[in-house]
Amino acid sequence: MSHDPLHIDRRQLFIGGEWRPASGGGRFDVIDPADGSVLTDVADGTVDDAMAALDAAVDAQQEWAATAPRERGEILRRAFELATARADDLALLMSQEMGKTVAEARGEVTYGAEFLRWFSEEAVRIHGRWMEAPAGGTRLLTLKKPVGPCLFITPWNFPLAMGTRKIGPAVAAGCTMVVKPAGQTPLTMLLLADLLTEAGLPAGVLNVVTSRSSGKVAETLMADPRLRKVSFTGSTEVGKVLVRQSADQLQRVSMELGGNAPFLVFADADIDAAVDGAMVAKMRNMGEACTAANRFLVEGSVAEEFAGKLAERMGALRLGRGQDDGVDVGPLIDDKAVASVTALVEQAVSAGARVVTGGSAPDGPGYFFSPTVLADVPPDADVNTQEIFGPVAPITTFASEEEAVERANATEYGLTAYVYTRDLARTVRLAESLDFGMVGVNSGLVSNPAAPFGGVKASGFGREGGFEGIEEYLDTTYVALPGG
Ligand code: NAP
Repeated sequence: MSHDPLHIDRRQLFIGGEWRPASGGGRFDVIDPADGSVLTDVADGTVDDAMAALDAAVDAQQEWAATAPRERGEILRRAFELATARADDLALLMSQEMGKTVAEARGEVTYGAEFLRWFSEEAVRIHGRWMEAPAGGTRLLTLKKPVGPCLFITPWNFPLAMGTRKIGPAVAAGCTMVVKPAGQTPLTMLLLADLLTEAGLPAGVLNVVTSRSSGKVAETLMADPRLRKVSFTGSTEVGKVLVRQSADQLQRVSMELGGNAPFLVFADADIDAAVDGAMVAKMRNMGEACTAANRFLVEGSVAEEFAGKLAERMGALRLGRGQDDGVDVGPLIDDKAVASVTALVEQAVSAGARVVTGGSAPDGPGYFFSPTVLADVPPDADVNTQEIFGPVAPITTFASEEEAVERANATEYGLTAYVYTRDLARTVRLAESLDFGMVGVNSGLVSNPAAPFGGVKASGFGREGGFEGIEEYLDTTYVALPGG
C-alpha cells in the first residue's frame, strides 16, 4: 500500500461511539483512480454490523432528541470549525479516493462544511405555530419532533458534502443515524465521523457502516420498523429500489437522484460569460455531478462561436493525478465510467456528431477521459438522453425560445437547468416553464447550502439545504386545545 491516509483504528466501522472491525473480520480495498492501485482498505460491514449500528442509533434516539437545540447547534458549529481546520486532510483524502484535484476537493470541503454551519444555526429555529380555529374556540398548536433513526446512503462523487447535507440537518433536528458511504470513497466519511465525535457528538448519534453489501444492508435495515427515515443520494435506478423498499414500513424518504441538465445559450447572451459558466457547469468534478450540464442547447446564430470558444478552453485543460501541481482535471472514478463515456461519444459520432476537441480516453494508467466538445449532435443521441457523468459537452442548436424550452424539458430528469440570456422577461418565462427543481441564470453553479437543493420527476424529491432542509427530519404533531 502506497499510502495510509487514515490510521488503521479509523478504518473500521463506527458503531455506538466505538471503532470496531467487521464481524467476521472482512475488509475491502479502496482504489486510487489515478492509476488503479490499492490505496488502503476498510472494514467490510455485514448485515449484523448494520443491525448493531441501528441498535446503537435507536438506543441513542430518545436522549438525543431531548438535548437542548443550542447544544446540538454548538456541536455542529464545532464540527464546522474542525472540518475547516482539517480542510487539507479532508481534501487530500477525497482527492486520493475519488480522483478530483486537491483544489476542487478543498472547494468541496468549504461547501460541505458550510452545511454543518448552516444547520448549526437552524437547530435553534425549529418552531411550531399557534392559531385560533377559523370558527373560533379551539386553539391549534403544532409541534415539531425529530422523525427518529435515519439511514443515509451517499454516492462517491461528493464524498463529504453529500454526507454533511444529510448529517447536518439530522443532527440539528435531533435524529440519530446510520450512514453507509459509497464503497469507492469511504475514507472521507470515516474522517468526518472522527471530527463529529471530537466536536462532542454523543455515542450512537452517528454510526458509519462501510460495506460491500449495500443492497443487503439497506434492505435489512429498511425492514426494521424502528428505522423511520431514508435519505439517499445516488442513481435513479437505486433510488427506485429504495422507494419500493420503504413501502413496507412506510419510512419517510428523501431522494436526490440523477440529472440531465440542459444548458441554454440564447443569441442575446454574453457568450464569453456563457463559456465561463459552461466550464463550471460541465467540468466541476470532471462532469461527475448530478448538476453537470449534460446538453448544451445553443441558438443557431451563436453556436459556432460558443463551440469554438468552449473547445479552446476545454482543450487547454491538463489531465493528471489530482494531487499533482498544475493539474486541472483528474481521472474518472473507474474503468466502467471510462467505458460508458467512450460509448456515448462513439454513438454520437456514428449518429453524425463532429468532435471539436478531445473525443477519447488517453492511454493508461488511470481512468482518464479527455475533455471533449461535440458539435452538430442529434437531439436523440444517447449523449443527450442519458446522464453522461464525464467531461463531454454535446452541442445542439435551436431556432426559437419555444423550441429550446420544449427540448430542455424533454427528459425524464428534472434536477438543474442553466440559462444564459440578457433578456429579463425571457428569464422570468424560462424560470417558470423549465421543469426542473433548480434553474441557474447566467451562472454555472447553483449549489449553495442556504438554498433548497433537489429535483422533480426522475431526479427525485425532497430538498437538502436552505430552510427546507431541516423539514425532511421533522414530523409535525398538531394539538387541539380548547379555547379559553
Ligand atoms: P449509485 O450506484 O446509486 O450508488 C449510490 C449509493 O448507493 C452508494 O453508496 C452505493 O453503494 C449504494 N447502493 C448501490 N446499490 C444499492 C442498493 N441496491 N441498495 C442500497 N444502496 C445501494 O450511484 P453512484 O454511481 O454512486 O452515484 C452517481 C449517481 O448519483 C448519479 O446518477 C448522480 O446524478 C447521482 N447524484 C445525485 C445527486 C443529487 O443530489 N441529486 C448528488 C450526487 C450524485 P456501493 O458504493 O457500495 O455500490
